[in-house]
Amino acid sequence: MSIKENIIHLKEKIKANPVTLVAVSKTKPNELIQEAYDAGQRIFGENKVQELVNKQEVLPQDIEWHMIGHLQSNKVKYIAPFVNLIHAIDSLKLLKEVNKQALKNDRIINCLLQIHIAEEESKFGLSENELKELLNNEAFAKLKNICVVGLMGMATYTHNETQIHKEFASLTHLFTQFKDTSMPNVNLKEISMGMSGDYPIAIEEGSTMIRVGSAIFGSRN
Ligand SMILES: *Cc1c(COP(=O)(O)O)cnc(C)c1O
Repeated sequence: MSIKENIIHLKEKIKANPVTLVAVSKTKPNELIQEAYDAGQRIFGENKVQELVNKQEVLPQDIEWHMIGHLQSNKVKYIAPFVNLIHAIDSLKLLKEVNKQALKNDRIINCLLQIHIAEEESKFGLSENELKELLNNEAFAKLKNICVVGLMGMATYTHNETQIHKEFASLTHLFTQFKDTSMPNVNLKEISMGMSGDYPIAIEEGSTMIRVGSAIFGSRN
């Protein structure tokens, strides 16, 4: 199937749900991204800063670029002028840097906080307590050039669907707990969860934003 057919197929599958499709184009050349663009796709996700910057420079300027991968503080400055959403924020230190660079660019940058929901060991993602601490931190309240618009999570890479359901449900549960947080720089609307292998489960469990790569562009090397 072509990229266009893959996108049409995906949109057909998710059409009954209010869910945003982020086309994950990491490692894929500009020609293929242009193909998806020509099929109507406007939101793309990348996980490496340099690659994101290179692609943003030459591809259509109305693309909405999402940074979906782990982000190092010293690289925030390169994407701050244009990035639309950063999915994987997992520390106050990183948020402070995003705020600083957003201020320099006279912007407010939307961010998602990554929550560790998988059973797998991973360095990335906040626990429920860490999320609480972050939102209650005095320094956080002072960040006027960021807006936390939701939570992001990745389920364990497993065939055990019960487990995947459980992990995604835990993210939705956490989102519900914090949804009414009333701060000028918090407006929780999005739950970013679901990839090529598990997005139907993620949608069943309340995802508002799926990040799909290989089901659109084919497998990566
Ligand atoms: C690569 C990646 C995806 C997409 O993965 P696929 O299995 O190809 O759909 C989604 N989210 C993140 C954070 C990724 O790094």
